[in-house]
Amino acid sequence: MAERASWSLGAALRGVFGAKTIDEDTWDDLEAALIRADFGPAVTEEIVEGIKAQVERYRTTDPKDVQRMLREVVEERLAKYDPTLKLTERPAVVLVVGVNGVGKTTTIGKFARFLRTYDRSVVVGAADTFRAAAVDQLATWAGRAGAEIVRPEREGQDPASVAFQTVDRAKREGIEIAIIDTAGRLHTKGGLMDELGKIRRVIEKQAPISEVLLVLDATTGQNGLAQAEAFIEHGGVTGLVLTKLDGSAKGGFVLAVQEKTGLPIKLIGQGEGINDLTGFTPHVFAQKLVG
Ligand code: GDP
Repeated sequence: MAERASWSLGAALRGVFGAKTIDEDTWDDLEAALIRADFGPAVTEEIVEGIKAQVERYRTTDPKDVQRMLREVVEERLAKYDPTLKLTERPAVVLVVGVNGVGKTTTIGKFARFLRTYDRSVVVGAADTFRAAAVDQLATWAGRAGAEIVRPEREGQDPASVAFQTVDRAKREGIEIAIIDTAGRLHTKGGLMDELGKIRRVIEKQAPISEVLLVLDATTGQNGLAQAEAFIEHGGVTGLVLTKLDGSAKGGFVLAVQEKTGLPIKLIGQGEGINDLTGFTPHVFAQKLVG
C-alpha cells in the first residue's frame, strides 16, 4: 500500500488531531471530513456520536484520544466482514463481474499474477465475447501473469460456452484456479443478468463456483454502487474488489460499501501495474485511513 495514500484521512484531520483540546470544532471538522471521504451520512453520524459518548465517559480532552477511538471503531466495523478468499476447491472457479470500465480485466490480470506468485496454476476465460478488444486485453494480461487463457473461437460466441471450456480445461489439465471475465454492458441489464445466470448454471454443472467477485471503482463511490445493484441482487456475489483506490479520495467508501451491501471486500487495487493488487486487511487499512 502506498505510504501516503490519497484516501487517507490524515491530512484532512491533522488540524483536529493536532489541536490542543477537544471542542465543538472537533466534532464539526470530524463530521465534515468523514462525509467528504464518502462514509455516508448515517455511518458518519453513528461514528461521531459513538466517539462523543466515549469522550464523555472517559472525560478526556485530548484530541489524540479521538484519533485512537476513530481508528478502533473503523477497524472494528471493517472487521465484521471476512475478507478471506475461498479457493480450496479444485479447480477453484472465480467469476468476475461488474459494469464496464471499473477495472475487471485489469483486476483479473493482477489477480492471476498474485496467485502465480504463490505458485498456483491459473487459467483465465474470456467470456466477454462481444468485445474483441477485451479478449485481446485479457490475453496480454494472462501472458504477463504467466496464466493460461481460453478465448472464444469467434466474436460473439456464447459466453457460457467459453466459461464451460475454461472450467473444462482446468479440470482436464489439473489447473488449480479458473478465473472468468464477463461482460458488463449496462444498457442491457436484464439481458446481462440472464447471461450471467446462464454462465453460472453451466459452470455449476461441472464444478462449484468458489467466488463471484463484484468489481467496483472506488473513485465513483456510492454512485458506482447504485450502478452495480443488479449484480448484487441477481449475481450471487460473494465478495467485492475495490479498484482505483490510488486515485480516490473516498477512503470511507471502503467501510460504507461493506455495510451497505453486507459483502466483504476481498481485494483492493491501487494502481495500473501488475503488482498493484493486495488482499484486504482491516487492521492495516484502518491504520492507514485514520493515521
Ligand atoms: P473493465 O472494462 O471493467 O474490464 O476495465 P479495465 O480492466 O479495462 O480497466 C479500465 C481502466 O481502469 C484501465 O485504464 C485500467 O488501467 C484502469 N484501472 C484498473 N484498475 C485500476 C487501479 O487499481 N488503479 C488505477 N489507477 N487504474 C486502474
